Amino acid sequence: MTPAGSSAGMLIGTGIGQGVAHGPVARMAPPPAAPVAEKSTLAPEKERERAAEAVSAVAADLAARGEKAGGEAQEVLEAQVMMAQDPSLAEAVEAKTAEGSRAEWAVHSAFEEFAEMLKGLGGYLGERAADLNDVSQRVVAHLRGLPAPGVPDPGRPFVLVARDLAPADTALLDLDKVLALVTVEGGPTSHTAILARGAGITAVVGARGAETLAEGQDIIVDAASSHVIADPTAEQRAEVQRRIEQRAAVQSAPVTPGALADGTAVPLLANLGSPEGAENAVQLGAEGVGLFRTEFLFLSSDRAPSVDEQAKAYTQLLEAFPGKKVVVRVLDAGADKPLPFLTNDEEENPALGLRGIRALLAKQEVLEDQLTALAQAEAATEADVWVMAPMVSTVEEAEQFTELALAHGLKTAGVMVEVPSSALLAEPILQRTGFASIGTNDLTQYAMAADRLLGSVASLQDPWHPAVLRLIREVGAAGRSASKPVGVCGEAAADPLLAVVLVGLGVNTLSMAPAALAEVRYELSQHTADSARAAAEAALGTTSAAAARAAVREALTQ
Ligand code: PEP
Ligand code: MG
Repeated sequence: MTPAGSSAGMLIGTGIGQGVAHGPVARMAPPPAAPVAEKSTLAPEKERERAAEAVSAVAADLAARGEKAGGEAQEVLEAQVMMAQDPSLAEAVEAKTAEGSRAEWAVHSAFEEFAEMLKGLGGYLGERAADLNDVSQRVVAHLRGLPAPGVPDPGRPFVLVARDLAPADTALLDLDKVLALVTVEGGPTSHTAILARGAGITAVVGARGAETLAEGQDIIVDAASSHVIADPTAEQRAEVQRRIEQRAAVQSAPVTPGALADGTAVPLLANLGSPEGAENAVQLGAEGVGLFRTEFLFLSSDRAPSVDEQAKAYTQLLEAFPGKKVVVRVLDAGADKPLPFLTNDEEENPALGLRGIRALLAKQEVLEDQLTALAQAEAATEADVWVMAPMVSTVEEAEQFTELALAHGLKTAGVMVEVPSSALLAEPILQRTGFASIGTNDLTQYAMAADRLLGSVASLQDPWHPAVLRLIREVGAAGRSASKPVGVCGEAAADPLLAVVLVGLGVNTLSMAPAALAEVRYELSQHTADSARAAAEAALGTTSAAAARAAVREALTQ
């Protein structure tokens, strides 16, 4: 993850994953310019027909896309189709064409009025206002004969170039067609980047200047070096091909338990956001789950989920891991993951507000229901459940959470270390709780005071920074002296070289998007515990992320 900038033919952003790809650009079509109020020269009936035809065409297109995507994406798109076909919306459009408006304006203004009304209702319905705007923009684009805004479909494999992607766009990408992703905005640990990593898409985000890449232009996207190269030479293309083949060989190597070259075990676990991802994780060799993000199950609920509803979802996940460790994080609501039933959307600075364990302790009944559901799911399955609290920043929170979890019948309770205060107090915290799992995404955000969602500070959002590594060293050392396990479950664990450094800093397990398991497994197998410690020492002795990377490369090739 090199600082943002550019030079002729080359753009620099932040690479997600270790992939490299090569292909023609397809740009994300921008939304059409908003229509203005103007009277039609056509008969009102003609305009009504134009509007109705465009709405049905867009609804049919969304339904077809949903069918192709399946799963969660299909649900999202079907909800959009239902909105587009809402009879009262059709009546509102018709009333406007009857007054002499053009179809473009009638649709735009009627949909806007509905969206405003939804926003006023707040909660789940309020969030649907953005979906309604998306449908309206698609209808207007159709009326004007323009391509639909959003992910294009040029009918051949392509590199998608966009200003940024909504998580719903990322979830919908057709991985047979999208060779790679380049965005102008976005940081390395935004949830869109996490989704891209989860899907194994080669991506460079925050690549300023990417807006100048032309439709059909030939580019290389090198996530490992964070570069985008326009119009590459034949030599550069051949080198990319060689690397693609080498990566394919690592990906198809036999699955073995994570270990260093000297046999030191480093269990490799999966980060999951829904039980549906479990099968793929097991296939890719996950030795358990190191982070189950439970809040992802309830992002669109406007009420707290019931114990039964939760126990069902957790049981489904745990059944995929008999005899294996599964670390479940209690709801981490707040900032970029608001849960209407837990968080207050009026906070000015939600990343520093009542989020994570703070929100749960403020509404303890929600936490207790979740612990009850988890204990029921554990009793019904063979998995070894570990439960942990997010965003712990004090010794008292660690103690209170641990006592509560044990009182609800859970055997192993621990905390996430993702706030500098808890890294610095890891020793007393680990004396009071069962384990620590370092969330390097938030730990980096808070150590560097750099919003993880903001492209303009992406170069500071770098877990290689020695300031972050020193905090991790504190936790590793505390784990050793308290004889308590320490894991990493932030995106840093998915960076193969950094994974070696983390082990050298005293981390015992690594948890990552399943797509990253093969490369991390391979890199660990190339180094001993002694050389991992030497790499960690070399990184700690530097003063910048770039210098830490260089020092580690040198230490590990000696
Ligand atoms: C982290 O902060 O590193 C982490 C794993 O949690 P999340 O990315 O869900 O905030
Ligand atoms: Mg976090």
